[in-house]
Amino acid sequence: MTPDGKRKTRGIGLMSGGLDSMLAVRVLLEQGIDVLGMTFRTPFFGSARGEAAAALLGISHRVLDITEDHLRMVKDPAHGYGKNMNPCIDCHGMMFKIAGDLMEELEADFLFSGEVLGQRPMSQNMAALRLVEKLSGYPGRILRPLSARLLPETEPEREGLVDRSALLDIQGRSRRRQMELAERFGIREFPSPGGGCLLTDPGFSARLRELLDRKPLADALDIERLKVGRHFRLSGGSKVVVGRHQSDNEVIEGLFRPEDLVVKVVDFPGPVSLLEGGAAEDDRRVAASITARYSKAPREVDCQVRIVGPGGSEQVVDVRPAADALLEELRID
Ligand code: SF4
Repeated sequence: MTPDGKRKTRGIGLMSGGLDSMLAVRVLLEQGIDVLGMTFRTPFFGSARGEAAAALLGISHRVLDITEDHLRMVKDPAHGYGKNMNPCIDCHGMMFKIAGDLMEELEADFLFSGEVLGQRPMSQNMAALRLVEKLSGYPGRILRPLSARLLPETEPEREGLVDRSALLDIQGRSRRRQMELAERFGIREFPSPGGGCLLTDPGFSARLRELLDRKPLADALDIERLKVGRHFRLSGGSKVVVGRHQSDNEVIEGLFRPEDLVVKVVDFPGPVSLLEGGAAEDDRRVAASITARYSKAPREVDCQVRIVGPGGSEQVVDVRPAADALLEELRID
């Protein structure tokens, strides 16, 4: 409540945790607006930076896991992908739609983000910002405080809930104005970059594209598997994921389905490999040979590889470590 008993204006902001979203929050706090931050979590991006940024700013904050709906959208985005597998238009539309539903539930007044006009040519141009608003179902209620004076007036500005003259007119890719603003607000600490959206990563996107072509019903566990190891598609159609180092091996051990097979060299140190369940005999042998190639077993002679399947069923095969040409041919990324 304000001192004269009126309800404070309330905005709900998408918080990636980057500097721009922090600045957008600060611009609104300066106007005495009550701010709630919202960060989403999926297998493609986490919420840690958003949570850290909200803590630094001392604002209320919510985290929402949207894995199921988001993955469904990523498989078939109505407005296509960006440079990689990033469906930014539909993704932003979805996030604002969810935040908008919360806005209605909490009787908040508007939504906002730290987006800057022209910073990302594909997803932050005027047409894209308008399209995202339309998709969200809340046209006119999405404020971009850092670029607001370059954009059409929004409802909260028209209603006098937000002072347009105290909003900004930043555009383009330069970070100069943001750095000046951070200095003015005394924001010297912000969550370190990194841990961004995997959908913008070319290597990850190549793996994801291949997965969705092969397995349209891929689920969150399939996505988690894309984050670790070396991936090979075998001629019978099965996939084998081979650990690159100890920490990969540990992660891979937590990603098995009951029907999957564990592949490991018997007498030499080496990786843990995950072979998808139902692999034919030929694929099993090739998976064993690839696993042997990344072990300490000598390359010129056969070695024994153990394949353990559902219910502990076990098979030991003698194979020669795979030749580089075969690895090259079967490797997914
Ligand atoms: S970069 Fe990733 S999280 Fe951000 S809008 Fe695009 S798809 Fe969504």
